[in-house]
Formats: sequence, C-alpha cells, structure tokens
Amino acid sequence: MKFVLNYIDGKWCESSDGNYFDVYDPATAEVIAQAAKGTEDDTKKAIAAAKREFENKNGWRRYSAQKRSEILLSIADELEKRKEEFAKTETLDNGKPLRESMCDVDDAVSYIRYYAGAIRMPSGVTLNVNDGFGPMQSFTVKEPIGVCALITPWNYPLLMGVQKIAPALAAGNTIIFKPSSNTPLTSVKFFKLLENAGLPSGTVNLVMGSGSVVGNCLSKSNDVDMVSFTGSTAVGQSIYKNAAVNIKKIGLELGGKSPNIIFADADLEGAVEWAMIGIFFNQGEVCSAGSRIIVEESIKDKFIKRLKERASKMTIGNGLHDPDMGPLVSENQLKTVLGFIETAKKEGCKIEYGGKRYTEGECRRGYFIEPTIISGCNQKNTVIKKEIFGPVACIETFKTEEEAIKIANDTEYGLAGAVFTSDGAKALRVIKEIRAGITWINCYNPAFVEAPWGGYKKSGVGRELSMQGLEEYQETKQITINLRPGKIGWYKD
Ligand code: NAD
Repeated sequence: MKFVLNYIDGKWCESSDGNYFDVYDPATAEVIAQAAKGTEDDTKKAIAAAKREFENKNGWRRYSAQKRSEILLSIADELEKRKEEFAKTETLDNGKPLRESMCDVDDAVSYIRYYAGAIRMPSGVTLNVNDGFGPMQSFTVKEPIGVCALITPWNYPLLMGVQKIAPALAAGNTIIFKPSSNTPLTSVKFFKLLENAGLPSGTVNLVMGSGSVVGNCLSKSNDVDMVSFTGSTAVGQSIYKNAAVNIKKIGLELGGKSPNIIFADADLEGAVEWAMIGIFFNQGEVCSAGSRIIVEESIKDKFIKRLKERASKMTIGNGLHDPDMGPLVSENQLKTVLGFIETAKKEGCKIEYGGKRYTEGECRRGYFIEPTIISGCNQKNTVIKKEIFGPVACIETFKTEEEAIKIANDTEYGLAGAVFTSDGAKALRVIKEIRAGITWINCYNPAFVEAPWGGYKKSGVGRELSMQGLEEYQETKQITINLRPGKIGWYKD
C-alpha cells in the first residue's frame, strides 16, 4: 500500500494523531493509497509556518519578481517532463479519460508559465492628483496579501490546484493547500516538485484531510489573510461566513447550472457536438457544464434524435484505456447522480437515453454511468434547478428569443452559458442578456488562461485565470509623494 504524507514547513509528515484516509481508484473501487488525514493541529502548524515565512525578512516575498518567475518556470519545465506520469496518476485517482488528463497537465504547465511571465509585466498606475496641498505625485504598487489558504474540489485536482498556486506564489504569498480527499494524489506529486524547486521552508504547505476539520480551521483562522475556494455553493457560503472573522480576502469559484441555448438556425451538427462536450466532457463533472440544453421548439425532435445517436456511440471504460467517458469520481457521486435521474422520472420527465449505472466488461465494479439525456423538463424540475455534476443533459424548449433568455436566467447560478445560431447579431444580443461570467457563441467549454473565469450570482466571487487571477492575490498600495517638502501654512502660527 502506498502512503502519502502532508508537507508542512518543509517536511513530509504524518498527521498529528497518525490517522490516514483511503484513496480509491473509481474505475475499480479499489483502495490505491492511504493519505495522512490532517488534524486541526497540523493545520495550525502549517498556518504558523506560512505566517512566519511571510514575515521573514529574507522570505519568498522578498525574492525579486524575476527570481520568483525563474523558480516557477523551472517547476513548469519539470511538470512538462513528467506529463505522462502526472496524467496517469490523475486518471487513476479521478477516473477521467487519459487524454483529458494529458490536456490538464498541458494546461497546468501553461498556467504556471503564464503567471511566471505575468509577474514580470508592468503593474500599478501613476495617478494625476490635485495640488490642494501643493504638488503631489501618487502611484500604486501591487503587494502580496499574506498567508493564502487554497481549497480545491476533485474534478480537476491538479489543474484547480495550479490555477491557485501559480498566481498566489507569483505574487509573493505563502500558501496552505488543501485538496479534495477524493483526489489528493497529483497534489502530493506536485508538492514534490515544489520541494525540489528551492522555495524557502514554510512557503508552501500541503494539508490533506476533511473539509470540516482542515478547511474549516483555515477559513476561521485569524492568521490566514485570504481563502481561495473552488467547490460547491453550500460550502462556499460557510467559508464566506467564516472569512468575516478577520475580514479575509476571499475568492469563491462555485457551482453552476449553465444554459446552452440552441436556435433553429444553428449548424445542427456543430451544436450537437459542442453540446456533448458541454455535458459529457469529464463525465459532466464540470462546474461550467452545459447541463440545461434549451432548444428552439421547431428543431427539438431533430436535435434530440441526433444527440441520442451520438451519445449511443460513446465508449465507457477505465480512464487509463482512454474511452470517451471514465467513471464518476466516487460511489457517493454515483448515488447522487442516479438519485437525480430517479427524481426526474418521478417528476414526469422523459429519459431519452441512458439513465443507468454502467456495468459492462471492465466496468463491473467501478462507478460508471451511461451518458444520459432527459427531455420534457421545465423550470420547476429538480434536475433543472439543482447542479447534478454528472453526464446528464436536461432538455427544455423555447419558442421566442425572449423566452430563451428568460429560461436561461431563471436560476440562482450564473457561471457560464452559450448560444448557438448562425445570426451574428442575435448571438451577441442574447449573450449580452445572459447573467453569467463565462459565455460562448457557437462553442461550449473552451477555457484559456488568458481569459477570466468566474461567476455571477451564487456561482462565486472574484475571477481566476487571466491578469485578474493574479490581482486576486495582490493588495493595491497607494503611495503619494509630496514634491515640495516643507511648511505648507495650513494651520495658523
Ligand atoms: P465541495 O464543496 O464538497 O468540496 C470542495 C473542497 O472544499 C474540498 O477540498 C472539501 O474537502 C472542502 N470542504 C468541504 N467542507 C468544507 C468546509 N466546511 N470548510 C472548508 N472547506 C471544506 O465540492 P466538490 O464536491 O469537491 O466539488 C464539486 C463542486 O465544485 C461543484 O459544485 C462544482 O460546480 C464546483 N466547482 C466549481 C468550479 C468553478 O470554477 N466555479 C470549478 C470546479 C468545481
């Protein structure tokens, strides 16, 4: 059995009470590793190390931006060299098809390089201020925030981690990272790269364990200056409340129930292909998934027929054999998704395709499910209101542009959305009405490090990726210089 440890203050360590938790291969339901189960004591130790290091006069934040950049680039190079090894571990731990894990590693390398470059770009602004007190010059500089707690989910374990770690470190912060207990293995590997990269002890800390212990301790701590969290809206809300204790900076990347609007004049083949990427990619375990497909009534039958044909051709299997879909991440997630499908049936929706656990051949034991298409949905249905986080496409219909927009926005979430049409003006008109932070026209789900990522409404606070993703980890300091020092004569003698 493989044992993996926490990394606190430059040392690999067991948890303070010696406990471990099981890590599963979702394709076989077998335990593949035991991970040190961090305690409150471990978390406090990690926070203390990160705080000490942030305050250290020779610490990470005192390194020049150039030096930090060089170190980050060396980490990216090492990750790139070991792409296949990381991708295999990711697939073993999470279940996703190997080619998707390979893309995740490519993206992780690219994110690190982007932020290594970004920190060397000009930053801050000079300000033209009034001369009421005599001539003054103001300008701003960007500074790190301090100790950052980074908490991630299980759907993109390496990538979501790097999405936070790279900008946080580029900016000069120290960090405590807590991955999801479902998928800690690539994080441990990544911390080995960080260990070898020459960061001062205490700059980066890894504490695995439950959200209610490690995560809660991080979000409540007075010594943590920022929490950046990606996960469910419910947990995000509790972190938001805890963060108020010391008015922490906060970044929240939360759930979604995103609309994918398909007009009758869209290229049907293209719309079907992108709709599949929208809902079946990564087994539908994607925050931005196009889980509500809103189709113009006149093409509903044609669209559903083609989507079913395409879904029926999808291969399902162990992610290491690179099928179109691997298993869901855990038994719990499988139960949750099957539960939603049962509820849809009870509420009168029609299962057009799939809807069952998949147990053929090598999929006998793992947490596999068929790609599922549900039609006849309306705004009252549970599967339309709640995030399912699985490969379940729920189809609604509309007759007019106004109705499509109304249905699309009738949700508490606002993460993503897309429009398919061959009418350019209509595409832009509709997309501008969608209340969501990430939108696409005639495509679904492409993400780029250069473009900001984040949600409106209950889908989150702040943005990741892009230059904005770096600024989230920085404070802005205003500096004003009196250009004519000396007496100004404000008070009477
Ligand atoms: P989750 O909220 O259950 O867990 C996320 C992380 O938070 C895990 O590390 C977990 O251990 C930790 N956690 C749990 N309780 C906590 C607490 N009380 N305090 C602090 N931390 C706690 O989410 P999940 O099931 O791992 O991931 C799925 C969710 O993540 C979905 O809702 C999905 O939409 C969302 N997500 C959002 C984005 C985005 O960019 N907006 C990206 C990926 C996933």
